[in-house]
Amino acid sequence: MIPFLDLQRQYAGIADELEEAVLTTLRSCGYILGEPVERFERDFAAYCGTAEAIALSSGTAALHLALLALDIGPGDEVITVPTTFVATVAAILYAGARPVMVDVDPDTLTMDPAAIEAAITPRTKAIMPVHFHGRLADMDGILSVARTHGLRVIEDAAQAHGARRNGTKAGAFGDLGCFSFYPGKNLGAAGEGGAVTTSDPDLAQKIRQLRDWGQTERYVHAMLGYNYRMDAIQGAVLGVKLKRIDAWNAARRNIANAYDSGLSPMLLKAFGPFGEDHACHVYAVFPSDREALRAGLTEDGVSTNIHYPYPVHLQPAYADLGYGPGRFPVAESYARHTLSLPLFPELSPGELSHVITATNRLVDRATHDRPSRKEYA
Ligand SMILES: *Cc1c(COP(=O)(O)O)cnc(C)c1O
Repeated sequence: MIPFLDLQRQYAGIADELEEAVLTTLRSCGYILGEPVERFERDFAAYCGTAEAIALSSGTAALHLALLALDIGPGDEVITVPTTFVATVAAILYAGARPVMVDVDPDTLTMDPAAIEAAITPRTKAIMPVHFHGRLADMDGILSVARTHGLRVIEDAAQAHGARRNGTKAGAFGDLGCFSFYPGKNLGAAGEGGAVTTSDPDLAQKIRQLRDWGQTERYVHAMLGYNYRMDAIQGAVLGVKLKRIDAWNAARRNIANAYDSGLSPMLLKAFGPFGEDHACHVYAVFPSDREALRAGLTEDGVSTNIHYPYPVHLQPAYADLGYGPGRFPVAESYARHTLSLPLFPELSPGELSHVITATNRLVDRATHDRPSRKEYA
């Protein structure tokens, strides 16, 4: 079976260095924050091109604290998208604010800047675009709307470590960038982890306090804080892996471009070519009969996944936001069709060509019509 993701292969390539870094940290008996985390924060900020990075316990914690650092809370609205992992929207609710959704662009599956203005009210405080599947959202368009209306921008960059456009990297476009180091992300810890990037020293300082119980000095709690600190071992692991991220992303792009050129034109595919503005976290195709293709691929030894089967506004837990079916046609159509193919840096050329051959055979055999991109418009 060709796995959807195989972290064993990544581990095998860096085992010696990783084990040494973890053992050194373990033997130091410094388990929370400390030198390995501080070093990773400096390296990650330098990598993203921001003045600061604050290491946290998860990507969800990053989103939550980014909102709190901007004093966003009850009575405020934050504009985001339904095509994302639920954490984006949940974090806005954790902050006590109201998530306001706009549909995504059918070609990029990221926030459509043209849809933002109609969603702005006097209560709007921030825009939170998602670099979905690793593709940078239209940050020029989004930042221009934000500037016009005096709004803050928080990037959900959990899927887009290293994606870059005109020399600016994910996490460096907005006021704050939020990253996840969940093991399956492009840059993954050996457990949970996350970070906020920013070049605003006041926001950085506030996030450092919020992650550690709101302390301004030991046992002086100036504000309601949280236990959102990063473990020292995760800092050590991420320090080892950060050196490889560009090479890993390049390997992901090669695979995505091979899918783009090798897969049948009868199949609607994720939209290439895949350049530096795409971290290629997920490669998706949009068959009209997803279950048939998925079952056929399983039979042919290919694992697949669905990211994500329901847009957030149709999840039961988010129904009381008041958005029903039909409200965001692009997001809904996308969720009905999307199927993710195996994509990780160590996927072998033989496996890649097997996935392409098996997919094309199934698509050619299928009697269904090719869904058109117009269907998402
Ligand atoms: C993974 C992910 C998150 C949440 O990160 P965790 O580290 O799992 O808390 C948030 N947003 C997006 C888009 C993600 O993919």
